[in-house]
Amino acid sequence: MPELEITDPNDIVVCRYCKKSFNKKETEFVKIGEKYSHKHCAELEDKREKTDAEKLDIYIMELYKTDFVSPRIKKQINQFINDYNYTYSGIHKALVYYYEIKKKPLDTRYTGIGIVPYIYQDAYNYYYALWLAQQKNESKDINKYIPKEWEVHIPVPQRKVKKRNLFSFLDEEEEMNEQ
Ligand SMILES: [Zn+2]
Repeated sequence: MPELEITDPNDIVVCRYCKKSFNKKETEFVKIGEKYSHKHCAELEDKREKTDAEKLDIYIMELYKTDFVSPRIKKQINQFINDYNYTYSGIHKALVYYYEIKKKPLDTRYTGIGIVPYIYQDAYNYYYALWLAQQKNESKDINKYIPKEWEVHIPVPQRKVKKRNLFSFLDEEEEMNEQ
């Protein structure tokens, strides 16, 4: 006689990665937010090298503690890429810069990344300065192999700059006219 199996429909879930359904009473699984996956599918996913677009999505989901990226944010990402020529990794870095380096608080009343165009250039400058510093350090290693006699130090005459409360390019011009 065939075994009569009674399955609670609530136990049947779909794996977010392989899209196959399984019974969570009989299968090793991982639950992230409201989404389920086979344990082995989650392990494979952890090891897989992600694209820049996926890394951005993962960062945004961690930021807002959600398991999906809202259509509103997806629309913003596409808009930044199409209208401003931003990149996925650039948007990602801008958000890391704003929330982790500048330590700005996350406004949870508003889920969106509308801040990005306002901070993108600052973030770019920050990472560019880091990159330059890194290049400089790398060339230091090369300098070790250059004979000492090659080192020429020419002191640069320093212009005395008055301390001001305000900095503007206009002040800079006035400074030059004074000389
Ligand atoms: Zn799976």
